[in-house]
Amino acid sequence: MLILETKAESNMLEIGRVLNGLGLEVYLPSKGRRIICTAQNQAGAKTAEVLARIPGVHRVREVKQPYVLAAREAQEKETVVHVGRAAIGSNEMVIMAGPCAVEDYDLLLSAAATVAKHGAKLLRGGAYKPRTSPYSFQGLEKEGLKYLTKAARAHNLAVVTEVVDQESLEEAAEYVDMLQIGSRNMQNFRLLQAAGRSGKPILLKRGLSATVEEWLMAAEYILSEGNENVVLCERGIRTYEQATRNTLDLSAVALVKSLSHLPVIVDPSHATGRAQLVTPMSKAAIAAGADGIIVEMHPDPFRALCDGQQSLDSGEYADLMREVKAISKAMGRAV
Ligand code: PEP
Ligand code: MN
Repeated sequence: MLILETKAESNMLEIGRVLNGLGLEVYLPSKGRRIICTAQNQAGAKTAEVLARIPGVHRVREVKQPYVLAAREAQEKETVVHVGRAAIGSNEMVIMAGPCAVEDYDLLLSAAATVAKHGAKLLRGGAYKPRTSPYSFQGLEKEGLKYLTKAARAHNLAVVTEVVDQESLEEAAEYVDMLQIGSRNMQNFRLLQAAGRSGKPILLKRGLSATVEEWLMAAEYILSEGNENVVLCERGIRTYEQATRNTLDLSAVALVKSLSHLPVIVDPSHATGRAQLVTPMSKAAIAAGADGIIVEMHPDPFRALCDGQQSLDSGEYADLMREVKAISKAMGRAV
């Protein structure tokens, strides 16, 4: 496939018509200035050099992988996604932390105070929870979004929250800084396209059983809508192992960093399902080259309405952060 970078003043529709006329299949994004097209016409003629001479085309890149825009060859620079005070994918080690679900305002405010005190830049918390059982707590929805914004502002944090469908996406986009697409929705392609069109930074979790290629293709759906602010999150995959909730695939972190220019963070909480494993796996993730971690913490994990068994309490979170800072420093990264 080819990426045609077009000049600011060029008419993309017109260039698209020229490409069609040459017998190429063309994808015009709804936003942005990059046109994707097939690298050869039906007769098999290669076209990259010819296309570079079309008026309005600035440069042509050929990419072998199916995830054209997510591939490393798509651009020289690493993508850095700015959310609040955080620059994800830069030299910084970005920490996102907070409860699994937003439960009530006082608990959330207390969690926000703890995570901010020890160096997190984003507050996490689910207002729309994708639960295995319909009888489990489903989230506070819009009220939860309001609590998140208020608690985060009080502690100079940005907010990341999960959206589960187009309705929740539109609602959350009005309140929060970053939208999370959860594992269960990694291949909800219409939701990915809507996330692309939202213009918000997107945290894209790896599907429960998704291959690395499927994960990068999911990112491609967002990028193809002209939204370049995508952060990938490895959160463990399903294996035969029952002793941990999932199996943390750290090789995927190193691999994706080589295949793509997108930032990658790790969720050791959902990956392991056990609070005692969160600190060792956070350290391993940072050593493997992750650009950040997202961790569940709760002021009173035993009373948590969701995922208490994998949530750190305030003291454990402070201990985690001491170790995270030491490993980050050893890796030449600032927290
Ligand atoms: C979460 O972050 O709260 C969550 C549900 O994660 P995942 O989609 O990775 O299971
Ligand atoms: Mn959770």
